[in-house]
Amino acid sequence: MDFLKTLGIENANCGTSTGSTWLGPAAGDLQSSSPADGTLIGALSSTTPAQYDQVVEKAQAAFLEWRSWPAPRRGDLVRQIGEALRQHKNALGRLVSYEMGKSLQEGWGEVQEMIDICDFAVGLSRQLYGLTIHSERPGHRMYEQYHPLGIVGIISAFNFPVAVWSWNAMLAWVCGNVCIWKPSEKTPLCAIACQKIISPILEQNNAPEGICNLISGNAAAGEWMTKDHRIALVSATGSTRMGKAVATAVAGRLGRSLLELGGNNAIIISQDADLDIAIMGALFGAVGTAGQRCTTTRRLIIHEAVYETVKEKLKQAYRQLRIGNPLDPANHMGPLIDKAAVQSYLDAIEKCRTEGGTFLVEGGILEGSDYKSGCYVTPCIAEVKSSYTIVKEETFAPILYLLKYRTLDEAINIQNAVPQGLSSSIMTLNLREAEQFLSCAGSDCGIANVNIGTSGAEIGGAFGGEKETGGGRESGSDAWKNYMRRQTNTINYSTALPLAQGIRFDL
Ligand code: NAD
Repeated sequence: MDFLKTLGIENANCGTSTGSTWLGPAAGDLQSSSPADGTLIGALSSTTPAQYDQVVEKAQAAFLEWRSWPAPRRGDLVRQIGEALRQHKNALGRLVSYEMGKSLQEGWGEVQEMIDICDFAVGLSRQLYGLTIHSERPGHRMYEQYHPLGIVGIISAFNFPVAVWSWNAMLAWVCGNVCIWKPSEKTPLCAIACQKIISPILEQNNAPEGICNLISGNAAAGEWMTKDHRIALVSATGSTRMGKAVATAVAGRLGRSLLELGGNNAIIISQDADLDIAIMGALFGAVGTAGQRCTTTRRLIIHEAVYETVKEKLKQAYRQLRIGNPLDPANHMGPLIDKAAVQSYLDAIEKCRTEGGTFLVEGGILEGSDYKSGCYVTPCIAEVKSSYTIVKEETFAPILYLLKYRTLDEAINIQNAVPQGLSSSIMTLNLREAEQFLSCAGSDCGIANVNIGTSGAEIGGAFGGEKETGGGRESGSDAWKNYMRRQTNTINYSTALPLAQGIRFDL
């Protein structure tokens, strides 16, 4: 495993850092094993409460200097981080694949997304603009400007162990904030590798120690940030269960939160669809990352006229899937993250069957020397009714539900009848259908696509979803405004003091 050496994480690691400084000792209480082959990859020490306080104090001090750096200078530092990520793309992509279990192509793709967001943030560092507004009072000028918030706490999920952090951190930095990252306890080594890639650049640029901080541990370490009034914004990515806990804790202190939570995404396949595109989109959406993307396609809502054809084509496509070691580029699908995820998959299959679901492609655990981690499962397909409770839940595994519809209204109702609202799509060559799907009476999701599947968003658009997906928006468009506070400024350059709304206050 050369990439562990290249990334400097082959020995025991500290799990707490304020940049180039690592807070020891490098004990091994937090271990990381690969779901690919069950091997223990490495160990690290979780952050203690005292170390957490040290990190926050360092971050507070760093913010006072960092916020005064001109934004384009901060952008130049992010540009250099993008260059370093380019140099480490191969090794970091391999680590992502090995520690998380996604295919090597997807591991490299995730690092590419980090590089892309760096490029986006560099441009953004020269575009942090506000509006000017005409004043109702003579001799007055009014405008709005954006200032950094302070410390941004980033809590991330296991399934995108590096990209989601970079979406937040790169934007937060060019906006003048400092960051504390609490990665998933299931993929801590990816975070340590990122910290090691970045810290030499911070040093070379004499950036204040404490702008890029890392803490490690389980939910409790995340809770320290949600309850801490010194953390101005908590950006949390993970399950809806976690999001509700984070939202409650942060709102309890009237702090800000940015939530990116679970999805239950559907593709509507119309009778006017290009079926080749539809099948390919559905296949990649359902089995990519072994069904462990927030944007994974979990439901196919298929017009009755093409239902049987789609069913047969899907069954055929599933037979050709190669499942195995994610580092082998010949495989389409790797393992689930751990045995607990395998159990959730089995429980969902059982529940689906109990509710009346019929399996067209059976699920199960794969056994044998290639699958010795015990985390490899078969992607499966079930015919269901939209009233089943299991269909309304997000099971983070490759289980695809098929539903039949007659009218587009009915299809849209089925699509929207789940608590989550992340990604959605329609496969159709019919303009009227596409526009209805995109209208305000169409999809209720944060992402709605036409002739593209539900997964694989570009960083240029704002990413996020509605309802139980949390309402947050990250990455492109104007998502940067989440990391800043808005200030309205009115300047009087006249010789009088006229009051607003025509109020007089004569003495
Ligand atoms: P998870 O909710 O188990 O954990 C996510 C992170 O939250 C971890 O770092 C964990 O330690 C932390 N955490 C858990 N409880 C917490 C609490 N009470 N307070 C503070 N922190 C807490 O999620 P997971 O299993 O790692 O990831 C899978 C989930 O993430 C899925 O539901 C998926 O849809 C979602 N996800 C959403 C997006 C999105 O952008 N919408 C992206 C990726 C993943």
